[in-house]
Amino acid sequence: MTRKLIAGNWKMNGSLAANEALVRAVAQGMGNAQCDVAVCVPAPYLAQVAQLRAGTKLELGAQDVSKHEQGAYTGEVSAAMLRELGVRYAIVGHSERRQYHGETDELVADKAKAALAHGVTPIVCVGETLAEREAGQTADVVKRQMAAVIHVNGHCISEIVVAYEPVWAIGTGKTATPEQAQEVHALLRAQLKAASTHPERVHILYGGSMNAANAATLLAQPDIDGGLIGGASLKAPDFLQIIAAASAASK
Ligand code: PEP
Repeated sequence: MTRKLIAGNWKMNGSLAANEALVRAVAQGMGNAQCDVAVCVPAPYLAQVAQLRAGTKLELGAQDVSKHEQGAYTGEVSAAMLRELGVRYAIVGHSERRQYHGETDELVADKAKAALAHGVTPIVCVGETLAEREAGQTADVVKRQMAAVIHVNGHCISEIVVAYEPVWAIGTGKTATPEQAQEVHALLRAQLKAASTHPERVHILYGGSMNAANAATLLAQPDIDGGLIGGASLKAPDFLQIIAAASAASK
């Protein structure tokens, strides 16, 4: 995998004014970046950011998607709606949704399927909690989460993006060491290889306190194909430094 992917996850942050300043700064600052770049924004701002990014290389992403096609599902947003707004990616199974909304491996797999059916690339998040890591269960947990998505999505699995996000590293300032991350990425790569016709297409991103200072070392690992960036994606200079590191690593 040569060309890296950097995706920002704004989480529940932003305002019309702040989004405009951030998107303009990122789109302008990334210029001709040698990596792919996306921002996954809160649903109410998708239309605004779709307009702001028009004519730039910045891609648009959502932070969730419904497993349902349409109908009586108050508050949910369908993949068809996302696609209509020009959304390219949708995060599914972020640990905050697994934790606060009780999302199961099966639901995450169904959401990935719904996204794929409408031409939206799911960014499927997997990752262990601190307790699971300390109990030596990291490999079992991420493999189980990944297996559910493989089971439901079959051959389409080479069309997804995976994000390995150790839960203990998200928003905590504690980053996995490049070796810890690489070990899990290699394991996920092997699992995808066994299940997919085109495993080389699958980007496996690292997420969890990736920032301007640690991005280059993480992105230098052979199986780290990019990053899913939370906090640092809200500050244009920090996000641009990560994009620059990914560009350099893409060459
Ligand atoms: C995330 O929310 O996906 C994430 C990786 O957050 P942070 O970069 O802030 O740890």
